[in-house]
Amino acid sequence: MRAWLRCAVAILLLGSAVPGAQAAGPAFDVKAATDAYLAKVPAAKRAQSDAYFEGGYWLILWDFVWTAGISYLLLFTRWSARMRSLAERITRFRWLQTFVYWTQYLVVTTALTFPWVVYESFYREHEYGLATQTFGPWLGDQMKSFGLTLVLGGLAVMALFAIVRSLPRTWHVWGVLASMVFLILGSLIAPVFIMPLFNKYTPLTDASIRDPILSLARANGIPATDVYEVDASRQSTRISANVSGLFGTERISLNDNLLNRCTPAEIMSVVGHEMGHYVLNHVYKDLLVSLVVMTILFAGLRSTLARSLGRWGSRWEIRGVSDVAVLPLAVLIVSVFGLLYTPIGNTVTRTAEQEADMYELNAVRQPDAFAEVALKLGDYRKLSPGPVEEWIFFDHPSGRTRIESAMRWKAWSVH
Ligand SMILES: [Zn+2]
Repeated sequence: MRAWLRCAVAILLLGSAVPGAQAAGPAFDVKAATDAYLAKVPAAKRAQSDAYFEGGYWLILWDFVWTAGISYLLLFTRWSARMRSLAERITRFRWLQTFVYWTQYLVVTTALTFPWVVYESFYREHEYGLATQTFGPWLGDQMKSFGLTLVLGGLAVMALFAIVRSLPRTWHVWGVLASMVFLILGSLIAPVFIMPLFNKYTPLTDASIRDPILSLARANGIPATDVYEVDASRQSTRISANVSGLFGTERISLNDNLLNRCTPAEIMSVVGHEMGHYVLNHVYKDLLVSLVVMTILFAGLRSTLARSLGRWGSRWEIRGVSDVAVLPLAVLIVSVFGLLYTPIGNTVTRTAEQEADMYELNAVRQPDAFAEVALKLGDYRKLSPGPVEEWIFFDHPSGRTRIESAMRWKAWSVH
């Protein structure tokens, strides 16, 4: 049979095998197909996911107000100076004074934010049906996070203050490099030591799911021998997958909600997206972005700290930048920066996510499965925002954008 004829027969057979599938080609109406997918979600469900996601916009603001308020309180009531003085009375070693201060700071700020954290990550998640954990196990996870922050955050704070003390003129440069080292070490150990503290990671054993994934990995030059399953249903109902690790600790993990709620084709489309992150080196590109952002942040920190201390330093009883009591001020400056950076950071991430989506469409070639997954992600992400709203608040493409990408791919690539 001539090649073109074989191709035409194959398309006819394919078309008849998928009931109701529209013929692909330039005549295929991308917008109508996208709208048809979005219309599959009942109005009440859509309203609930919109409310959940839009509430998140306000949480960004309230998180900031809460953090800023606590910093303000610690500085103006001179609690911060008192915690420093107590640390000085407890030990004469400066590095240990920094850790003692850090412990007090963490205990006080954790206690003051606790009611807000309970509302935001326990009560509200249950209210929208996204959480599965009862209060006890949830609190257990919170305590593990506290322990990790105490130890790892303590090491980072001790190193940064040691740099400020020993390199008073150039600390903002060395601070950037030290922060990059922490970031790299954190990414390196996260999949091996940190994430298993909260969830169980087991190699996926179901060959009917695992083998096609490993074939796709090999076809795309990914040296994977295992795919991991994580028991995310311990905490939530969300479907998700991720690539984590660095320099050889990389791994793709699929959560059990995804495995339970998706068809094999849908699972493959999620895996294809994660492979896109891997092949396009998004982890390393993210590190480069972090380097630029940290450089700007530390330059801003240096000048703002100096100016604020010149004006209020004696009132707060803070002796200078190398005095650990300055920490709440540094946290305040970083949180203002973080708030302003929100739309830029989201856009950087969302752009990489869009790249991974396009990679997935070309690698897996199942646009309809991908569109179905985009709808399922609509459980916790607003499906059809306005363009400015998507630009500011979305760290992943919205459901509409993702389905539109899939339908455009379907219109122009399947012949
Ligand atoms: Zn992604």
